[in-house]
Amino acid sequence: MTRSLYDLDAGQLQALVAEAGEPPYRARQLAHWLDGRRQPDPRRMSDLPGPLRARLADRFATARLTLERHQGGDGGWTHKFLFRLPGGDAVESVLMLYQRGGLRPPRSPQDPMVGDDWEGGPRGRATVCISTQAGCAMGCTFCATGQFGFTRQLSAGEVVEQVARVSTMLPELRPGPQAPDHLTNVVFMGMGEPFANPAATWGAAWRLHRGFGLSARAITISTVGLVPGIRRAAAEPLPVKLAVSIHAADDEVRDRLVPVNRSWPIAELLAGVGDYVAATRRRVSFEYALIAGVNDDPDQAGRLGRLLAPLRVPGSGGHAAHVNLIPYNPTPGIAFAPPSRNAVRRFRDAVAATGVPVSVRANRGVRIDAACGQLRTTAGRPGRRPPGVAGVAR
Ligand code: SAH
Ligand code: SF4
Repeated sequence: MTRSLYDLDAGQLQALVAEAGEPPYRARQLAHWLDGRRQPDPRRMSDLPGPLRARLADRFATARLTLERHQGGDGGWTHKFLFRLPGGDAVESVLMLYQRGGLRPPRSPQDPMVGDDWEGGPRGRATVCISTQAGCAMGCTFCATGQFGFTRQLSAGEVVEQVARVSTMLPELRPGPQAPDHLTNVVFMGMGEPFANPAATWGAAWRLHRGFGLSARAITISTVGLVPGIRRAAAEPLPVKLAVSIHAADDEVRDRLVPVNRSWPIAELLAGVGDYVAATRRRVSFEYALIAGVNDDPDQAGRLGRLLAPLRVPGSGGHAAHVNLIPYNPTPGIAFAPPSRNAVRRFRDAVAATGVPVSVRANRGVRIDAACGQLRTTAGRPGRRPPGVAGVAR
């Protein structure tokens, strides 16, 4: 199968240009289009000669991601994209815009509680959420992607290309001058488990940093809790942010929600995160999808706080854990429900009482199927379910 242009490194771009009988500086121009201007379409690389553009367009036409669907929500501040991959699978990417100077823009009385995630800082924020796999083999029982199954790994280039594509669409999608005009953050929180595809995840993270010029702190990788992946993140010289999807404070509840907990139960997961914090001195955010009657009891909040309170940044002694509560985004065909606003508040307050920093993440794009995997479920084809818990060797 032809690879994405973003799968090619500098040497491979040079070879490609040489093959076409063009001088070596054309390879630098091509790299500038891809990384500097984030333009994956050779036909738009206006300073390359016509025949080279045509040759590249021809050769890579079948390797590119095809935008199949685009849905806007939240008054134009959230955009969801479905990209068809070569070979027929589909993945989702989501763009979330945050206005300059503080809190989010349009707000309706029905909106869920708003946390500090909406704050855009002085320059605003434009975050793209990308996928690392078509589907996911982890089988989390509340997650549309997990219930859909796994079909294939993405290459590093396919991960990077999602960022490039969204980046080039951003100027047209801005809902107004208060919205940022360029991408500021990337989160690996779309479909798939990043640490079950480490080559593409780290390959993409490095390219986003070195090629696209994003600071490592602007890149967040979210994991369901694959401890070997967390250990690798501790050793990797790229200081990206780490998010761990914990979702429960005891193994009984977590086993039910996150099957991979049977391989790395909470104590082992927290030992891995403790080593990560000791090695990197970086804080870690813990994602907790609040589900009515399953994991939203204040007792569980207290237990969660007590589990995470001992995690401290060496030196400063400050809390290393930050809890991010995400009210469950209902998914057709899955019998879990979102918590009431009161339950969210009670849970947040009970975590805060333990001293652990906590915020509630606003649910973006509830009306545009923006929960992980939902758009693909309505448009994609079913995946295969690999045998065993996770398809990942311990
Ligand atoms: N596989 C990785 C990253 C992708 S999922 C992981 O699990 O961390 C990104 C986040 O969305 C995870 O925290 C996941 O648990 C959460 N999530 C998935 N479906 C959800 C839903 N319907 N409502 C709320 N959060 C959901
Ligand atoms: Fe995979 Fe993350 Fe969904 Fe679990 S929550 S099935 S790890 S994408």
